[in-house]
Amino acid sequence: MAVLLKGGLVVTPGGAKKADIFIQDEKIAALGKLSPDKACDVFDCRGLVLLPGGVETHTHLDLEVMDMHTADDFSSGSRAALAGGTTTVLDFATSFKDETMAKGISNWHRKADGKTYCDFGFHLALVDWNDALEDEMAQTVDEGISSFKFYLAYKGSLMVDDGRLYRAMRRAAEVGAVVGVHCENGDLIATFVDDAVGKGEIAPEFHELCRPAVLEAEAIERFCRIGEMAGARHYVVHLSTKEGFDALMRARARGSDVAIETCAQYLLLDRKLYSEGDFYDKAKVVMSPPLRTASDREALWRGLASGDIDFVGSDHCSFYLHGQKDHGLHDFRLIPNGGPGIELRLPLLYSFGVAKDRLSLERFVDVVSTNAARYFGLYPKKGALAVGSDADIVVLDPTAKWKVRQEDLYEACDYTPYEGLELTGRIVDVYLRGKKVVEDGKVIDDPPSGRYLARSRGEDLR
Ligand SMILES: [Zn+2]
Repeated sequence: MAVLLKGGLVVTPGGAKKADIFIQDEKIAALGKLSPDKACDVFDCRGLVLLPGGVETHTHLDLEVMDMHTADDFSSGSRAALAGGTTTVLDFATSFKDETMAKGISNWHRKADGKTYCDFGFHLALVDWNDALEDEMAQTVDEGISSFKFYLAYKGSLMVDDGRLYRAMRRAAEVGAVVGVHCENGDLIATFVDDAVGKGEIAPEFHELCRPAVLEAEAIERFCRIGEMAGARHYVVHLSTKEGFDALMRARARGSDVAIETCAQYLLLDRKLYSEGDFYDKAKVVMSPPLRTASDREALWRGLASGDIDFVGSDHCSFYLHGQKDHGLHDFRLIPNGGPGIELRLPLLYSFGVAKDRLSLERFVDVVSTNAARYFGLYPKKGALAVGSDADIVVLDPTAKWKVRQEDLYEACDYTPYEGLELTGRIVDVYLRGKKVVEDGKVIDDPPSGRYLARSRGEDLR
């Protein structure tokens, strides 16, 4: 069925303007001043803002950590994504120790295929580098996974050493892949954790105290140097500190083309949360990197506004407070790291970015949708309201005010770190390839229709 969205403020690649959008056969068929010339559903969008569907760069759905499965699988996580205006999710498929790339990818297809309500693609996270992976990388890229992730943190499980990272990035340069890295110095974290536990410092707040900002800045500096030597396109995942941001600006000043992702929690939540309330209050925000200070947040907002920070993910990695996070009641090392955020990423960025005059509407769309689509090889199919693009459209009421309550969210988790926040701007309807999947804020109960997206190599952002 064809659909005409009339009279909204449409954020196009050329800027925001009053326009009508005509949707047919899953695509945007026309955009401008239009009148219905055939039978189609017409929706009055006057007073509303129309955005391209959000592209989420960083999720962990149906991930197993320390024998615990994340609260959200692809089914609940993708419904939450849609409710929050995200129509495309890039999740971290993972090949664990001694697994081929193909094995990790087929495992993730088993988790996602047929259960996912939004469109989705995979990055591939790797915990090692060897000749077999070296041989496999070109084919993996040709088959539509053009971005790889490594960890410089989590010593003993996920971390790779600098030599392996360098070799992987050299190969990535040859095959045109992008490498994203979790930048914290895992060796020093392990040392600080051992020292803390040796002194009996096992409460949740010590998680953060073992991960000072300088460990992120050091790892970013090292990663950029390695990336520059290897010549691969590369980006930092979930940047959290001003020190790290400054290191990235120095890298760019000497010619590095490094891209930058941050996450909503690092823009909005404060490290004070580790010193308030009981175990449960603190365990909610045990994540890596940890939450930081007001001056870090200001640096990140400035970086977003100036165009230096490229996209915002959620690092959605949800564990139940009761039954999962509380495994670490007597030892912070046993608290599974991460928190929920897939559903509120766009609303938070709109409310605290656009409605508070920190970001223009166009810049907001860049960081929640367009830049990720371009960088990760989905543009202009995704990330744009333009003729020929997929009709993934978010209809937002820019003046509506509402309050975050976990019980109203589609996320499966038993808490949200954003509980009680008052937000401006509410997502009304969402279209996925022309089909209305969210109506008046509610996900329409249909069978999952999300499609897997094989991605191209993507483009540089500057
Ligand atoms: Zn992550």
